[in-house]
Amino acid sequence: MIDLWGEDTATIVAHDETSFADAVVPPIFQNSLFTFSSYQEMCETFAGKINRPVYTRGINPTVRAFEEKIAKLEGAEDALALSSGMAAISSAILSVVKPGDRILSVKHVYPDTFRFFEIFLRKFGVSVDYIDGGNLATVEAALPGHALFYLESPTSWIMEAHDVKALCARAQEAGVATIIDNSWASPIFQNPIKLDCDIVVHSASKYISGHSDVVAGVIATSAARVAQIRGEVTQYLGGKIAPFEAWLLLRGLRTLPIRMKAHEQAGMEIAKRLAEHPRVKTVFHPAFQNKAHPGLRGTSGLFSIELADNVSVEALCNHLKIFKMGVSWGGHESLICPAQASLIQSGGPNSTAFFGVSPHVVRLNVGLEDPEDLWGDLEEALGAASE
Ligand SMILES: *Cc1c(COP(=O)(O)O)cnc(C)c1O
Repeated sequence: MIDLWGEDTATIVAHDETSFADAVVPPIFQNSLFTFSSYQEMCETFAGKINRPVYTRGINPTVRAFEEKIAKLEGAEDALALSSGMAAISSAILSVVKPGDRILSVKHVYPDTFRFFEIFLRKFGVSVDYIDGGNLATVEAALPGHALFYLESPTSWIMEAHDVKALCARAQEAGVATIIDNSWASPIFQNPIKLDCDIVVHSASKYISGHSDVVAGVIATSAARVAQIRGEVTQYLGGKIAPFEAWLLLRGLRTLPIRMKAHEQAGMEIAKRLAEHPRVKTVFHPAFQNKAHPGLRGTSGLFSIELADNVSVEALCNHLKIFKMGVSWGGHESLICPAQASLIQSGGPNSTAFFGVSPHVVRLNVGLEDPEDLWGDLEEALGAASE
């Protein structure tokens, strides 16, 4: 288990370097523009000689406080916060690819990332090839000819964790840029920049927020890449995070280490019991797989199970009382999301079907309730759900 109080993590989340009027918590700079004290200052700012807030679509001090914290936690030079995880993902990708390029992506990426590839990028002449991220040899052979290697580890639905360092080393040798979706592990359990990944993206709507009250995203990478993403993509697409959202995320970060520890312990305990349960066929959880994932220092509370053939997904969902049915994850509340419902989702190509997720798979978000209550809920519902 990770030492949560090591590596300065606790201090990074607890303290702020910039203090505004000695406030213990940074204020919400709820303003669109910042005025100049002289014509000269305005000109020097416009000429790029002074770096200071001008307009909130560019820089806002509350947002900046959040970005600086994420950069530190990820071990990156800089970070850029945006209005959603998808804004972070699409902006990072658009900063790397151009028409005619090919992307190599691991399988089982987040459903809307898959749709961004298949619906949006295709329109601009960018194509995507999918590969098993657990097979280093086939990845190495496939990399040449691609402009970008897109990783998500652990992946969506089946939670397959990869050897990120080994994969990024192969990409570097082939001269291919790398982006990883690190939402599942959060900056507490995995720091891909330290594993030689070029760009880290997060849906901050999940663990970073932790309270199911924010939709936001963040990119962590080198200072040069952040400047490029700002200057070539986000300044015009404009997916700006609101100052209040950034303030809520700063608040979420304060408890991120202890929340992750609680999610890990409860998630592991429930996953272990489910693995022994006669109505559960498979547990999809990084701690229950035979593949190497040395960069992952801990496990979160999101995992999936495949139910035995005689268990009704519908009856299980309807019998659960504490686990609510819902999308998203990473919050305080426990949730269940069935692949069967995801398989019938309309609106374009369906990643759950494309990657072949069984309709008997359900995803569980183990929240911060009493783990014994959660287990009681699952046991009762599994007992009542046989066909
Ligand atoms: C939710 C999620 C996203 C998208 O994030 P939003 O904040 O909803 O835009 C991206 N990646 C993963 C793994 C997710 O679970």
